[in-house]
Amino acid sequence: MATASLSIDLDAITANWRALDRLSGPGVQTAAVVKADAYGLGAARVVRALAQVGARRFFVALAEEGAAVRQALGPGPQINILSGHMAGDTEMLHDLDLTPMLNSLEQITRHLEALPGHPFGVQLDTGMNRLGVELAEWQAVAPILLEADPVMLMSHLACADEPDHPMNLRQLEMFHEMTDGTGLPRSFAATGGILLGPQYHFDLTRAGIGLYGGRPFDLSQRVVTLSLPVIQTREVAAGETVGYGNAWEAETPAIIATVAAGYADGLLRALGNGAVLWDGDTPCPLVGRVSMDLITVDVTHLKDIPRTLDILGPHQSVDDIADVAGTIGYEILTSLGPRYTRRYTEARG
Ligand SMILES: *Cc1c(COP(=O)(O)O)cnc(C)c1O
Repeated sequence: MATASLSIDLDAITANWRALDRLSGPGVQTAAVVKADAYGLGAARVVRALAQVGARRFFVALAEEGAAVRQALGPGPQINILSGHMAGDTEMLHDLDLTPMLNSLEQITRHLEALPGHPFGVQLDTGMNRLGVELAEWQAVAPILLEADPVMLMSHLACADEPDHPMNLRQLEMFHEMTDGTGLPRSFAATGGILLGPQYHFDLTRAGIGLYGGRPFDLSQRVVTLSLPVIQTREVAAGETVGYGNAWEAETPAIIATVAAGYADGLLRALGNGAVLWDGDTPCPLVGRVSMDLITVDVTHLKDIPRTLDILGPHQSVDDIADVAGTIGYEILTSLGPRYTRRYTEARG
């Protein structure tokens, strides 16, 4: 079988949630952000594991993602929709008890007219200029909205992964200005914001990337291992080239392993002639370009040809690979794609 295997350690995810929950501090709830199928790792398994250890609130981007999470969890936990209440969402929000975070006057009007009495939150724009109600609009609608009793007021930080960035304090001040005195539960911090310290935590934090073992939560446990099958090997002579565009040329005789995963599986083309795979503790350089379904790896120095090589594992994190490709761990995770066999490990079974 040439299908590669993506191992996902659910115990590491729950341990990371507990650690971020401890960092969020007493009296502060910690929600789990599971948008984009739990950052590519499989929302159904991830949310069930998190619910077992006490997570009660979840965030997704889209109502359809919320529906999948509700199906996995059953009634009870609060599932929040970051894109708010879009045209066409009403029935799903109602039937599956999803809580939209309303982002604009248009969404607020739609929600109050279509689903009066149905829970909602409000997302405020404190300077990121991406989603949420802006200050002037908020001042106009807050008196009416507060009577409809939102479950929370939330906002999002633009530069939380840079602790010294002046934007953090600017947004914090704006969030206070927009929400002080409302008496409503407030949520401001994602993973980066949790690490900025207690003044950013308010009532509910929203942990995403840190659950999955990514920066900036450096103390996180490793979650993913990605093992790729070796399909065949060949000997190349000095001066021979490998792969598309003759992008790598052997300087000395070499043994090249052809390995079953490519850019269609999230191994970005930018990894060509740069990334390293691992046979246990031994690094093996990726040579030549990344193809759609294949990569080629120099294994000349190995005693035996292994059945698989790891591209994510104890020696190489999603952030390490992201650095090679010039991107971030979030993009590596969410690019991993549907072709892998996802194997979940969990002590509880
Ligand atoms: C994605 C997202 C999060 C989670 O962010 P991480 O950096 O992954 O922790 C939290 N809040 C909002 C609004 C988001 O879009």
